[in-house]
This record gives sequence, C-alpha cells and structure tokens, in this order.
Amino acid sequence: MNENTPGLSTRCVHAGELQDAHGSPHTPIYTSTTFKFASTADLLDVVDGRKPGSLYTRYGLNPTIFSLEAKLAALEGAEAAWAFCSGMAAESALFLTHGRKGIVCIGDAYGGTLELLSTQLRELGIPAYFLLGSELHGLKAFLEAGAGLVFFETPTNPTLEVLDIRAISDIAHEYGALVAVDNTFASPVNQNPLALGADFVIHSATKYLGGHSDLTAGALMGPQHLLAAVWNWRKNLGATISPEIAALLMRSIRTLAVRVERQNATAQIVAEAMARHPKVARVYYPGLADFPGHAVAQVQMKGYGGMLTLELKGSYEETVQAIDRLKLFAIAPSLGGVESLATMPVTTTHHGLDAEERARRGIGDTMIRLSVGLEDAADLIADLGQALV
Ligand code: PLP
Repeated sequence: MNENTPGLSTRCVHAGELQDAHGSPHTPIYTSTTFKFASTADLLDVVDGRKPGSLYTRYGLNPTIFSLEAKLAALEGAEAAWAFCSGMAAESALFLTHGRKGIVCIGDAYGGTLELLSTQLRELGIPAYFLLGSELHGLKAFLEAGAGLVFFETPTNPTLEVLDIRAISDIAHEYGALVAVDNTFASPVNQNPLALGADFVIHSATKYLGGHSDLTAGALMGPQHLLAAVWNWRKNLGATISPEIAALLMRSIRTLAVRVERQNATAQIVAEAMARHPKVARVYYPGLADFPGHAVAQVQMKGYGGMLTLELKGSYEETVQAIDRLKLFAIAPSLGGVESLATMPVTTTHHGLDAEERARRGIGDTMIRLSVGLEDAADLIADLGQALV
C-alpha cells in the first residue's frame, strides 16, 4: 500500500470487482466448473502458468474466485490472497506447506486450531509447540530447535490477550522462521498484521468478513512467493471456496468497514457498562484503559473490535443460569455477525481442554464471551442487565 492506495471503505466496495460486458457493478457468479479454450496452445498457456486465466474451479482458476481474492488481498495490503472453503482449510493448507519443520503456537487459540496442531499434525510427524503469551522468553529455544512457523491470534480467544505482532515477528525472523497471524477477531478494519511484520494473515471469513452468520469460508493473505506453494495444497486437498460463496462473501465485504466500525463503538459502550456491573468480576476488552493489553493494542490496532469476555462473580451453575436468561443475545458459538451472540468458552470453544489446562490458560468457568452485533447498545446492556441478577 502507498499514499495512492484508496481508503479501506473504498477498497471494501470496489477492490477486485470484475467489470463485465453488461455493465454489472459487481462481479457475477461464474458457476462453471470448467472453462473452454480456443486452442490446445491457449489451454497449455494457462495450464503451464504462462498466462493467467480460468481453467477449473477447484483449482481456484475461476473469475469469481479471482475477483474475491483481489479484494481479500487489498483488505490486508497483501500481494496475494487465496480463498478457502473454511478458516480451518486455510490454516491446514498453510501448516502443511510452511509448518512442516515445526509450528510454535503462542497464546490462546481457537479450539479447532489447537486440536489440529496437537493431534492431526503431530500424527503426521509435524511438531507443534505451545507457549502462553506470558512465556515468550521460551520462543527462541523452539526456533533454535528448528521450528519454521510461528502462529498466533491477536486478540486471542477468549481472553482477548493482545500479542505484540512486531516484537514476535522480529524474534522469529532472526531465526529465519515465518510468522502467521490469525486476524479473525480483529478483522482487517482494526488490524493489518502484514504491515506490522507478519508474513501471513489468516481469516476465518465465516466471522467478520462474512458478517451475517450465513457463510463458511477462509482466507490466507501474504507475499506471492510464499503463497505459491500453498496453492497446490489447496488444489489437492480440494479446499477451494465455491463461486457461489465467493460472491456472497464479496457482497458482505462491501459493508465490512461500516459494520466493524459500529461493532467497535457498541462493544466499547457495553464493555464500559459491564465493568461497572456489580455481578461482573472482570471485563476482558482491549479498549478498556486498565486492560493489560491496552497499550500494545493502542499501537497496533485501529479499533478494539466487537469481542469481549465477561467473568462473572459466582459459580459455573449461576453463569449457566445467567446466559440462559439472555433474550437478545443468542446462545451460540461463532462470532462477527450482525446479531449478538453469547457463549461460555468452557462449554464450546475450550470444552475439549481438561480443567487443568483451561486454568493454566486463564479460562474460567464463569466466563461469557460476547460477540457484539449491530443492535443498539442500550438494548444489549438492558438484556445483560436482566440476565445478570
Ligand atoms: N480462527 C478463529 C479465531 C476462529 O474463531 C475460528 C472458528 O471459530 C477459526 C479460525 C476456524 O474457522 P472456520 O470455522 O471458518 O473453519
């Protein structure tokens, strides 16, 4: 990105859009699974990579997918982007391509990511090492032992811990390791990890990019020379996004900036109100001035996001009763949609961890994670108020 790059809202609306012969303002959906050529020579030019072109949709060589990928790259200021059928598909393809020497996962992460690293990839002989955000001093030892990829989310799920992207990238690069940041919680509106030194950005596009809880997709952004090898894994895992979902995702991204800006503002109001609530022991939100990650967030984030976690006073049972009383917030995992959601990490995202490991990671039995949607802040606060009695 340079001084001539349009602003983020403009990129959300216009980047990557394909101008067709009929004057459609948006990229049409090309449902074709295959594309025809005037001659074998023309076909071979595309097959052998001498010319860009559409060929076969599972390969990602489809005009609707190209168009989405240009938009995704523009959102993160990346050279290139690949679109996947889910966030986990994007992670798997990245790990299988660039993580084979070993992956260091820092801080808390989505439960599916932890399972992939600690179970399936280990079964393939790919070492995975885990460090809490407070154990960064241990990173060099794993890098010296040969780990080639450092992976983390920031802010993390569900404690909203803010990890310093620049500082971690500098350490990893000293040892020739690559850095991938899962930017799902922040969204490209609030944080651009590539500009802070990371090599890759991953999104579960199922969340803020999709924004309406009605599509499943993933994205990987980064430099062309590093993404090139991931392309073959995506192709042969069959993990490519479909053109129909690609078009739906583009429709959603056109409103991404305005949605996330509102979610930032509402989450801040809800977090401040909950910090004053007598039944709330602690609020985890990077936008609160006394939150431990606030100082780093001020430097690396443009907004503090729509995710916050409450730790209630009382017991697990009382927390279940409180969440069950919510009327406007839906009890559901996932996040980033227009509707507000509430979930207890102990029952969903971190259910698979044993109690000791949850305690080590600071994930309490009385935590409720909130994904703030586009409802009015006053209505969300009233709903929480009637639930927290
Ligand atoms: N990364 C984060 C931070 C997530 O919360 C999730 C899913 O909840 C994923 C990755 C996986 O994404 P998907 O469900 O699209 O495969």
